[in-house]
Amino acid sequence: MKLLQGKTAVITGAARGIGRAIAIKYAENGADVAFSDLRYDDNVASLEKELIAVGVKAKGYASDASSYEDSEKFIETVMADFGRIDVLINNAGITRDNLLMRMTEADWDLVIKINLKSVFNLTKATQRIMLKQRSGSIINMSSVVGVEGNPGQSNYAASKAGIIGFTKSIAQELGSRSIRCNAIAPGFIETEMTANLPEDVKADWMKDIPLRRPGTVDDVANMCIFLGSDLSTYVSGQVLNVCGGMQL
Ligand code: NAD
Repeated sequence: MKLLQGKTAVITGAARGIGRAIAIKYAENGADVAFSDLRYDDNVASLEKELIAVGVKAKGYASDASSYEDSEKFIETVMADFGRIDVLINNAGITRDNLLMRMTEADWDLVIKINLKSVFNLTKATQRIMLKQRSGSIINMSSVVGVEGNPGQSNYAASKAGIIGFTKSIAQELGSRSIRCNAIAPGFIETEMTANLPEDVKADWMKDIPLRRPGTVDDVANMCIFLGSDLSTYVSGQVLNVCGGMQL
């Protein structure tokens, strides 16, 4: 059964990692996929090919999710190319970890702008389309760190906690038009974002995971399938942890 047949999804930051896995699972489940990343590079081109080979309509765009103007243009172009948007997945994100003592203002500002402002930019640009359609699902990529906090990640934790407040507010603003908004809080997922963490930090994370393994990008993508599909039509304003039961 193809759970997303007939739907069009927009995914930010999909050239690699979790976003890429979501794009592939969405296509496998029948969705047309418009995705963005900072540059139109080989990763974007190869993903575009891979999705089209599955038999759906797919296109990659160079767009900076942290830029208001870029995001407006991106969504306008997607509408011209695809004609509708049923699911918006705000996935783009970065880390610039440091203890507060050593954190620069630039690293604070950058993380808030890319992780949190991007969610405002894309949701604002997409809401009028979903309002006209009187349906839609918005999925925002938060983190367990946004729920629990984490030393050395105060900028990242603040951005991801901000996403949760935004998600719950938008669920209340748009719910009467059948537009749902939820956040996913992944735990420790193996991607390039986590590849460079020191071994002792990784070992520390592993101790806190009852399922005794790191998460995969597909673990997170499967939750996105649930939230983007009609399996979750009565789920809104929630934070769904995908973290192997992790207790921080
Ligand atoms: P990743 O670094 O592997 O991929 C992130 C992608 O976003 C990259 O392709 C990057 O180029 C793109 N990107 C960065 N800034 C962008 C911008 N301004 N506009 C458009 N694209 C941009 O990261 P990932 O591990 O796949 O993480 C994806 C999301 O999941 C992030 O929001 C991250 O915070 C969140 N997350 C990851 C983990 C984890 O353990 N990996 C845990 C919790 C939450």
